[in-house]
Amino acid sequence: MLYSETIKVTKTGTSKLKKLDFENIPLGRTFTDHMFICDYHDGTWNNPRVQPLEAIPTHPAAMALHYGQAIFEGMKATITDQNIPMLFRPDKNAARLNESARRMGMPDFPEDLFVEALKTLVEVEHKWIPPQEGSALYLRPFMYADEPFIGMRAATSFKFIVIASPAGPFFSKRIKLFAEKQYIRAATGGTGEAKAAGNYAAAIRPTEIAKGKGYDQVLWLDAVEHKYIQEVGTMNIFFKIDGKFITPKLDGSVLHGITRMSVIELLKHKGYEVTERLIALDEIAEASENGTLEEAFGTGTAVGIAYIQEIGTEKGTIYVSDESPVGLEINNTLSAIKTGKQKDIFNWMVKVESNE
Ligand SMILES: *Cc1c(COP(=O)(O)O)cnc(C)c1O
Repeated sequence: MLYSETIKVTKTGTSKLKKLDFENIPLGRTFTDHMFICDYHDGTWNNPRVQPLEAIPTHPAAMALHYGQAIFEGMKATITDQNIPMLFRPDKNAARLNESARRMGMPDFPEDLFVEALKTLVEVEHKWIPPQEGSALYLRPFMYADEPFIGMRAATSFKFIVIASPAGPFFSKRIKLFAEKQYIRAATGGTGEAKAAGNYAAAIRPTEIAKGKGYDQVLWLDAVEHKYIQEVGTMNIFFKIDGKFITPKLDGSVLHGITRMSVIELLKHKGYEVTERLIALDEIAEASENGTLEEAFGTGTAVGIAYIQEIGTEKGTIYVSDESPVGLEINNTLSAIKTGKQKDIFNWMVKVESNE
């Protein structure tokens, strides 16, 4: 074992792993035996530790509950054929957590300790990583204000925690989107770039309404004109028109997806042109009508790539071709890199030591 020197590890005597049926994992409801936890007070992060997962007593005045200082990350650990646990670009999640923290008036978490925390937790929990192709151990780092205080200012005490949840292979059916013109997700100058808990709270109701109309996800449009495409649900979005890829530019309202960034690099590496720019919904409708809309997909850690079937708009339905050969190829490349089946030419993977 190669536990980090700074992180204290206390293991449970009673693992729940025996109860897990790897063929049938309830999504988002199963948690591993341990968590990483670290406390912020007096201006520093203290006592980084991996300990048995347990409930945390919460003061009813904890500021996160009232004023929403709460942010999170989402990432995955995979395991190779040689039984080596791997993390996908954890440095990017570390940097993005701190971008979110700054926007929300929260303290930075040291980026090397972030990566060390994930490695240590995954090392302890490596037997929980489902081995099937497309499965992974989902990791949820998050930070929230736990100071008991009534009043509007930045909190002075926080917790940073990482929990882990095994996730079976995700077979995404092609999704139907509802282009939302009444509600918005993010405006320039707002918190759309931050992975802030409140952004998701505000998206719940519009998503339920879209689902009630038979759609799977909301296609978010810009806050001012309701004309330009931002992203889909909790994914970034790509279109292929006439052989070229386009994706909305990062204008301050779009989440900086790490899958988005990686897909752009992969597409360019495969010789495709990728342009980041403003994309009007009408432009996609036109491309669909004149037969040049070749592919459309969402990208995110949870699903990888989710193929889009159609987009419902007030002017009618935009249909997307039911083949997405390049999207499929990119999806396969991504999962082959994550499981060590394909050479990691971009140096994205970070190995986790484990000698069992
Ligand atoms: C997390 C998230 C994404 C995807 O980011 P990844 O780093 O690729 O997982 C996209 N949009 C929103 C709103 C998100 O919260």
